[in-house]
Amino acid sequence: MSQWRRPARLLAVLALLVVGSGAGIIAQSTGNKAVVDDPDFARAVKEWTTRPEFSSPLVDHLPKVAGIPSPKDVLGHHIGEPKKLTYYSDTLKYYRALAAATPRVKMQTIGKSNEGRELAIVYVGSDESIRNLETYRGYLGQLADPRKLTDAQAQEVIAKAKPIYFFSGGLHSGEVGPPEMLMELAYRLATEDSPLIKQIRDQLIVAILPVADPDGRDRNVDWYYKYGINETEGRTTGAGVPYWGKYVFHDDNRDINYSQVEMKALLDWYLQWHPPIMHDLHQAQTLLYTFSGQAPQNPNLDPILYGELPAMANFEMSQMTKYGMPGVWTHGFVDMWSPGYLAFMSSNHNGMIRMYEIQGTSGANTTKVRLGNPNGTGANGVGGPATTGRGGAPSGAGPGADPAAAAAGRGSQATRDWFRPLPATGEFDWSLRNNTNYGETGVLTALQYTSSFPKIILENFYIKTKNSIETGRKETVAGYVIPSGQRDMTRVERLINLLRLQGIEIGRATAEVKLQEGTFPAGSFVIKRDQPYSRLAKTLLEKQVYPDPNLRTYDDASWTMGLMSHAEVKEITDKKVLDLAVEPVKETEIHLAGTLTGTGSMVAVAHNGSNNMITLRYRLKDLKVQAVEKEFKQGDVTFPAGSFVVSGETARVKGEVEKLGLTAVALSSAPQVAMHDLDLPKLAIYSIWGNTQEVGWVRYALDRFEVPYDLILKERVKKGDLKGAYDVIVLPNQGGSGKRVVFDIENRGQPIAYKKSDEFKNLGMYGESDDITGGMGLEGVAEFEKFVKSGGLLVTLGAASFFPTEFGLAPKVDAARPSQQFYAPGPIIDAEILKPEHPIFYGYDRKTVPVRYGNGPLLSVQTNANPFEGPPLTPPPPAQSILMRYPGGDEHVLSGLMRGANEIRNRAAIVDEPSGKGRVIIFAGNPCYRWQNFGEFNMLFNTLLNFNDIKTEAPKSAGTAPAQ
Ligand SMILES: [Zn+2]
Repeated sequence: MSQWRRPARLLAVLALLVVGSGAGIIAQSTGNKAVVDDPDFARAVKEWTTRPEFSSPLVDHLPKVAGIPSPKDVLGHHIGEPKKLTYYSDTLKYYRALAAATPRVKMQTIGKSNEGRELAIVYVGSDESIRNLETYRGYLGQLADPRKLTDAQAQEVIAKAKPIYFFSGGLHSGEVGPPEMLMELAYRLATEDSPLIKQIRDQLIVAILPVADPDGRDRNVDWYYKYGINETEGRTTGAGVPYWGKYVFHDDNRDINYSQVEMKALLDWYLQWHPPIMHDLHQAQTLLYTFSGQAPQNPNLDPILYGELPAMANFEMSQMTKYGMPGVWTHGFVDMWSPGYLAFMSSNHNGMIRMYEIQGTSGANTTKVRLGNPNGTGANGVGGPATTGRGGAPSGAGPGADPAAAAAGRGSQATRDWFRPLPATGEFDWSLRNNTNYGETGVLTALQYTSSFPKIILENFYIKTKNSIETGRKETVAGYVIPSGQRDMTRVERLINLLRLQGIEIGRATAEVKLQEGTFPAGSFVIKRDQPYSRLAKTLLEKQVYPDPNLRTYDDASWTMGLMSHAEVKEITDKKVLDLAVEPVKETEIHLAGTLTGTGSMVAVAHNGSNNMITLRYRLKDLKVQAVEKEFKQGDVTFPAGSFVVSGETARVKGEVEKLGLTAVALSSAPQVAMHDLDLPKLAIYSIWGNTQEVGWVRYALDRFEVPYDLILKERVKKGDLKGAYDVIVLPNQGGSGKRVVFDIENRGQPIAYKKSDEFKNLGMYGESDDITGGMGLEGVAEFEKFVKSGGLLVTLGAASFFPTEFGLAPKVDAARPSQQFYAPGPIIDAEILKPEHPIFYGYDRKTVPVRYGNGPLLSVQTNANPFEGPPLTPPPPAQSILMRYPGGDEHVLSGLMRGANEIRNRAAIVDEPSGKGRVIIFAGNPCYRWQNFGEFNMLFNTLLNFNDIKTEAPKSAGTAPAQ
């Protein structure tokens, strides 16, 4: 039989080996309280654990202590009971009760979620650690910025300090196990008196974020009790809950600019507490994957980190293997390239990101896992049900895609490999308690390692920080200058604030700056690399040079902030930058006020590409606002095409212009150029039910820029008369294909409602439906066609652009897909503007602009060529309706990776196709991606503001141009 089958007697011996004598097996004492194990717990856990090897001597028992509530005392059941999941308020209730009962636990509120739920950190440690939490916070703060310490002083701090080890659960709401497990962990750490737990308690402070996305947690628990609890095998219901958090699903783990309030609250907490290790607990892999930072690795991070990560992962793998737990592995899954994962905030600040993927269940149901056998036959890969819900598939590089796994050499999960010494094989039941056992054994083992070497962890944290300051002095890139006096300073303001958000030090030059790279005006922003977060500054600002085009990456290959923002950022190699006189930017958020000069009853506001232009328009919605169609000058201010002319209430306009950082001049009479009224569109954002995340990012951007809209779903489309209600409908990137946009979630015979009720209060938000399956169908397509033909403007982004092209709404536009060899995990590439006079490009002053490649369709536009004429002798001009195209080829890849860049050569990036009285504007890319590509946002915003002012028409005959 399987070699890991573990005789019961060996189990006891292992327990002794691991943690010394009597690990939770016999009665022990803690101060005055007698600690005995709870027999009811041991019995229940044994019953719920589907095989003996799916447990460990660390978690098969739990102390019972008078006066200190165990999870069961508050929740009514032990952690891991089948068919039991805990709502967030009950989770907080438990931690609060625990904190009230023992001086070893403390709770701190760190903010509020989007839907108003309290965000909390729970600290667990010895009585002394918790009493002196502020002192320990101070020590870590000193190590996090050691510029004021000598090495000897640093050693003194290290001698007194304790590492904070941070865990989060529930970052991904469909991954339901870890938030349950963490409650038991906190209780165990506070109450158990085994040598191991005592060592952890004495040497470390454990900080727990109980649920990273509490809004999504409650929606998922509702959904589980409404549908999931009745499922027998897999997801028979056929759909997951349509929303997790207010805006995003998995992307809360890719929120590189910390847009979501939950992620920002954690970052703010991080910069106060500096935990050297942050560990996110996910569930997806068989049976426990522990992250070790595989290639491609971000080369800016300290090499020490790349030693630490596999050291800890290997310790966990060998310990858990020693306990006989199969399926613990490392390597071969997530890489160390993108800095956008949540716990990466620690690595970005000289600490350590850690991550587990634990085998999940379908909600809290026990479900079958089917794996191959060790000889490689049978089912491959992960068995069991999807645990993350539909619509949860991460975008970008497609982490769910198995080709990535294959390329990474992961092979079958049932196969033994150097990074998987004891694979799980065959077919077995998997329970929520198994998930708890694996997760808790893993984290206790991580804590065992850390508490065995606490001073090494601290010393490494200190050295990595010190190295960050020193490499900044030694490396070629010595700093960055973000020049003042850029045409649009609002994008500079945003960029500075995003860097400040992450704790990066920035100064403003007190005089004109002369460096090898150029001369920059006084007031320019200077980022010197001799600072603790110099590596992070470089990572965010440099062009990403992908190390090996044959390697795939789990998420985006590039994020260069200057390119994404269309802001000028100068990389500086001149070491003089380190000695420049600067005034430090002390604020965490700067504001560069706008200006209004002159007098008069009208105000001209220059459209220099600020995303705030649309906010201004909406703040002045009751005033007459026009857009000029040609450039004009007033004094020494140039007003490009698209600039606003606002009539009346000059004082109020001035206030808004200043707040929004814009440039304006008051006029006594209207400029002598053609103008059109900027009417406000009745705007709808359309979402399918099965893929709401990318829609969520567009909703988020519109909310931030104060653009009102209706979120509409198939229910509204089927009612008809879309034109009566809306002028513009935007279909954000969604679905992946035209068919998915139209037919959406498959109906498996029973309706699936998403509605609020007294029992399920968290459902029915951001849309409501008696049946989310089936999609809008062909009747919905017909309604969209009526909308366009009767004068509506339909705008489609990214993959949603397959919808108008495949369903006949833009008959001349075809959408294809690239070859299998093509691979473009979000590179930044050149795009060429072909119709600079089109309102969509108001505020853009260059012909070629950087855009994020969005992996939408390869568009081509048929012209009126006579198919019988044969091929043309000279290359034809692009079709008139193509507004922007991708030049393609490797030479136009600006940052990151695009494999097969020739496949997109001269492909249309934006097409404006008139249809009936209306038009369809088709974006191949995604101009509103994850609160990142701010430089492209205006292509969408201009479309909205000028919805009824777009006058281009496809020519009657475009010569003999064939498809582009
Ligand atoms: Zn996850």
